[in-house]
Amino acid sequence: MRRKIAAGNWKMNAMQGDLAEASSIANHPADAIDVVLCPPATLLAQMSALPLGTGGQDCHANSAGAHTGDIAASQLRDAGASYTLTGHSERRTDHGETNAMINAKSVAAIDAGLIAIICIGETLSERENGSTLTIIDGQLAGSIPDCATALNTVIAYEPVWAIGTGKIPSTAQIGEVHDHIRAHLQNRFADGNDMRILYGGSVKASNAQEIFAIANVDGALVGGASLKAADFTPIMDALAKA
Ligand code: PEP
Repeated sequence: MRRKIAAGNWKMNAMQGDLAEASSIANHPADAIDVVLCPPATLLAQMSALPLGTGGQDCHANSAGAHTGDIAASQLRDAGASYTLTGHSERRTDHGETNAMINAKSVAAIDAGLIAIICIGETLSERENGSTLTIIDGQLAGSIPDCATALNTVIAYEPVWAIGTGKIPSTAQIGEVHDHIRAHLQNRFADGNDMRILYGGSVKASNAQEIFAIANVDGALVGGASLKAADFTPIMDALAKA
């Protein structure tokens, strides 16, 4: 049995005053699932004092040094995180992150004792020209390090065109990609059947139940709908019931 994860990515949002939302999320009953929030680094230490998992949104591939503005995986751990995202599409686009860079960051995260949530997904043009599974194959092969195990790595499938747009793939499209990812993990890793695969992209309370019923969907990575407890807790509830 894979334990399900409801993960929230707060991106470059939230101030001290928003910690109350995290507190409400942390105090919502959710024994059956893992709940993880990835706040901006400014809130990480405070949020890590709450009864929920926390994560960074990115980490550097190096363990320390002259990298102004970056954050090391060990610093995320030191602030109380147990996870970090790597390879989010906004990092791939805004910072030109390649699969090789994401692979190195994921190794750094794992070496620091974090669980890497490695994000992959196709763009709209890749979806429309029929290359989704080829792109996914390249990202899986390139971004996931060989040291990945079900204990230190989670995969998040996030179609770029579904992130923050309100557009969402059909259940058949999500199922096709998740099954494809599962086959890759099973072929490559001894415990590939135990690795968790999250869906991300415009998940909301209104579509969560349908998404969580899809085979090989082990939870969600949620952006906008994770910022407010009123939006996120129904998603947690839907996952706990799935
Ligand atoms: C995300 O940023 O990972 C994400 C899935 O965002 P949203 O839920 O807002 O589409």
